[in-house]
Amino acid sequence: MVGAIPAQGTNGAASGGIMEMMCLKKSTKPARSSFSALCGARRKKIKMLFPYEEFVKFFQCEAFDLSPRGLLNIGNSCYANAVLQCLTCTKPLSIYLLRQSHSRACYGKDWCLMCELEQHVMLLRESGGPLSSSRILSHIRSINCQMGDGSQEDAHEFLRLLVASMQSICLERLGGEHKVDPRLQETTFIQHTFGGRLRSKVKCLRCFHESERYENIMDLTLEIYGWVESLEDALTQFTTPEDLDGENMYRCGRCAGYVRARKQLCIDEAPNILTIVLKRFQ
Ligand SMILES: [Zn+2]
Ligand SMILES: [Zn+2]
Repeated sequence: MVGAIPAQGTNGAASGGIMEMMCLKKSTKPARSSFSALCGARRKKIKMLFPYEEFVKFFQCEAFDLSPRGLLNIGNSCYANAVLQCLTCTKPLSIYLLRQSHSRACYGKDWCLMCELEQHVMLLRESGGPLSSSRILSHIRSINCQMGDGSQEDAHEFLRLLVASMQSICLERLGGEHKVDPRLQETTFIQHTFGGRLRSKVKCLRCFHESERYENIMDLTLEIYGWVESLEDALTQFTTPEDLDGENMYRCGRCAGYVRARKQLCIDEAPNILTIVLKRFQ
């Protein structure tokens, strides 16, 4: 586990929850060669925006001795500081930032989050007093006008904003996400680090037809209620089949109508760095 962040917000989905980022055992991660296998049917060589082998080197790198430095609370900035501490201690990301390969070819005309994070991580190599996140917070308003204005915000929302912004930056020089093939978008450095895939399977209980849907995820939101007392319990609860009934009936294409169905979620491809957000409703 890299760190635990108490979510401090009052207005987000993760309010009152705990957010954790953890490194999965490497053996649980399927080799990304399955990606080329998936696309092999098209007999087309798929290129990667960031080579996966390179990412694995960052992930497995033993010589990693960055120690965190304190971050000043510049007024309700603890939610952002907690996220920054976790992100800058996420090994593959820190190594990527330390190499400064982004800034050497950065197209950003104005302020750029990735360049800023590079500078932040470079400062971690020097010993010294606490650092300030004020530059990141003041500029984050240009990405999300509601954040960074000194009010209390949600740590999970902030993390999502940073990860989504870093992903967009990875796609910028290719013309942005609207111009890049969705499968190719899954091969950026940020996707290799945080990206995973969720599978949702719904089985019609009348004709027993099954349909599957896949969703790309950058983190996993688990709910704590009822019998859930541990992370394992929350994961079990998350993947337990759920009956769709009553007002929640499922529309089956084959039966051409609303029917009772059973839905089950599972993690089809676990992220290399899994971020779990625990939501507590009770
Ligand atoms: Zn940049
Ligand atoms: Zn059916």
